[in-house]
Amino acid sequence: MSDFLAIDFTDPWYFSLFTITTFLIIFFRYLLISGVYHYIFYTLFHKKFKKRVINLKPKEIQQLRTEILRSALTSFVFAISGTVLLILWQDGRTGIYLEWSAYPIWYLPLSLLLAMLIHETYYYWLHRWMHQPKVYRLVHKWHHDSIETTSFTAFSFHPIESILQALMIPVLIIFLPMHLSVLLLFLMIMTISATINHAGIEIYPAAFNRHWLGQWIIGATHHDLHHKQFRYNFGLYFTFWDRWMKTESPESDQWFEKHANH
Ligand SMILES: [Zn+2]
Ligand SMILES: [Zn+2]
Repeated sequence: MSDFLAIDFTDPWYFSLFTITTFLIIFFRYLLISGVYHYIFYTLFHKKFKKRVINLKPKEIQQLRTEILRSALTSFVFAISGTVLLILWQDGRTGIYLEWSAYPIWYLPLSLLLAMLIHETYYYWLHRWMHQPKVYRLVHKWHHDSIETTSFTAFSFHPIESILQALMIPVLIIFLPMHLSVLLLFLMIMTISATINHAGIEIYPAAFNRHWLGQWIIGATHHDLHHKQFRYNFGLYFTFWDRWMKTESPESDQWFEKHANH
């Protein structure tokens, strides 16, 4: 690790090498997670989840191609953000730490929860702003081109939106101490939750929306309503901002109960 951290990543050659490697990791991880998710739910369980046809129509294949291409662009933006983060870390400007004993053990889950709550807050307000008509046309429309979303919609953003989303991570890590493994877990949760929320299949159990904890967690039905109604359900992981700001769709419970697996 110390040999790796001794490399000067501000050097254009190493900057490019690390960015391209990170791009390949992020993009293939996206393809793998979305592909496996798609395969499991649409192919293996298709009798149970009769919500998608297995044989895609030409229009759906076109949408899939567009989503994968846009996700490749997003992966590239995220990769640049990763290299910037690495340089900041080398420079001692981030809260990333490697020693398990640097903070109490209970701080590990706490730092993950804090990162998710901060990310939620940033994304909710960014998302509300991106739905302003002028901003929407330029920045957010690409994501909403998918009305019937799939697991491959997860990273399908306009590059400006990808930059706005990617900005949050280095800024967050400057202020919030995080163990490297917690940071990597946080990035993984981000990807998996985007996949779950766009797949159009509700995986949470019936009555989850009325459970004391479940009611605060966003799933596929919640975000599906955002892609269909546009003016509700702006949250990312949790429902609390939508509830406080009264932007939760009045049909959220009804939709959940209709689509949840009974
Ligand atoms: Zn939106
Ligand atoms: Zn979406």
